[in-house]
Amino acid sequence: MAVPWDDVLRDEPAVQEAASVAVDAALLEGVLMRTEGEPNASDVVNYAPFTLLPSAVPSALFEQAYAVQQDFNLLVDAISQNKEFLERTLASTIKVDDFTARLFRIHMQVLEEGLAQSVFLGINRSDYMFDCGVDGTPALKQIEINTIAASFGGLTSRTVAVHGRVLKVLGKSKEASRLLPNNPSKGLALGIAKAWELYGSQSAVVMFLVEEVQRNIFDQRCVENELWNRNIRVIRKRFRDVFEKGSLDDAKRLYMDGQEVAVVYYREGYVPTNYNQQNWEARLLLERSRAVKCPDIATQLAGTKKVQQELSRPGTLERLLPGRAEAVARIRATFAGLYSLDMGEEGDKIAATAIADPDRFVLKPQREGGGNNLYGEELRQVLEKIRDSPERTSYILMDKIKPQPAMNYLLRAHSPLHVSECISELGIFGVYVRQGKEMVMNEAAGHLLRTKAIEHADGGVAAGVAVLDTPYLV
Ligand code: ADP
Ligand code: MG
Repeated sequence: MAVPWDDVLRDEPAVQEAASVAVDAALLEGVLMRTEGEPNASDVVNYAPFTLLPSAVPSALFEQAYAVQQDFNLLVDAISQNKEFLERTLASTIKVDDFTARLFRIHMQVLEEGLAQSVFLGINRSDYMFDCGVDGTPALKQIEINTIAASFGGLTSRTVAVHGRVLKVLGKSKEASRLLPNNPSKGLALGIAKAWELYGSQSAVVMFLVEEVQRNIFDQRCVENELWNRNIRVIRKRFRDVFEKGSLDDAKRLYMDGQEVAVVYYREGYVPTNYNQQNWEARLLLERSRAVKCPDIATQLAGTKKVQQELSRPGTLERLLPGRAEAVARIRATFAGLYSLDMGEEGDKIAATAIADPDRFVLKPQREGGGNNLYGEELRQVLEKIRDSPERTSYILMDKIKPQPAMNYLLRAHSPLHVSECISELGIFGVYVRQGKEMVMNEAAGHLLRTKAIEHADGGVAAGVAVLDTPYLV
């Protein structure tokens, strides 16, 4: 996957100049993050880390990823409505994984009480890498699908202009003109706006549920601004605000400080550290309400690694999406090998295989946010220790995807400039709205390319490993 600027990478003065132009362009375009030292103030901000140059992405795989997104939207939505499937799939996991178990308990409680919510909004991001087969042909393989708090739909829209400028500075105007426009935050906001409209109360607001530490606020503001532009009021609250000031009326309408909430958009609530007892209570209150949750708790559970693994079993997709053979085929084509570690012969066998050959696999717990997976020697040691214990069922195994690395510069505040061998991960944003049984919106809303140095097996942008990038289709 050669790019037409390989020559530039060795021209140090040109790289230095381009990097200083790039950083200023990033600040001007709003590729911003708050600092680690002051994550809740905007007095001093930094640029969010990004690559100096766009990375090559095979155009056929890029198109394939877009073409399967509406199928994935339908699939996630179908899983979220299938109580029996979620119950069966997560049965072994919730015995050993307390976090998943707590989410699951809320899910069951809300179903028992009867769902007050009738409009459903899904915003997800399906992530892929380009696996290099034995013959060197890259194939699109899904890493995971994020069904809660999928981020960077805002900032990613702004890297195109930055990379366009860099390419021009390097004398590559023709290539600059080929970069694709991309604005996921607009698509996300259209979904939120549609859900707000269907909720049907002009005076109700959209509530962004945000973390205590808000370094990535500018990414969220991109979506907020799109809503304000449509005259939809947005408030930002934390779980503890909901605990203190949230309430339901007789019809289970949600109020914050007396203000009715139509849509709750979670940018929080996806990892155990987001919760204390009060926050769990706040979560339950939100889930019981009539407000449109993005996502509702069932959709969050649909995004667990355990569900992903079960989807790869023969026949599962067909049962979840009856009469949609083409969608099933498009989805299945993106699956890498996924393996259950449930107790029994099948799990014993794959555990033994992974212990013998750890570099073929990734060991994944039910966690989000990067930095949780195990690889290589560490994978072997952990699996060896838990191979005969039910604890192993809190993990799944996945074939390790091996993309072809490419050289690039990763620009980070306060970091020296040096060339790195890198691999990229492509995400496609999906947005859908369902009213009762009827899908009223189902879209692919844009893309995100993240790139990291190959010495890091794991980790996203927020985890400080990957950086923002722009695809250059080849
Ligand atoms: P998280 O929910 O923490 O983001 P992911 O499944 O996305 O979990 O894994 C985190 C990172 O680990 C990915 O961004 C990717 O860099 C790496 N990774 C995950 N699965 C694989 C795999 N099968 N092969 C190679 N790398 C992987
Ligand atoms: Mg991920």
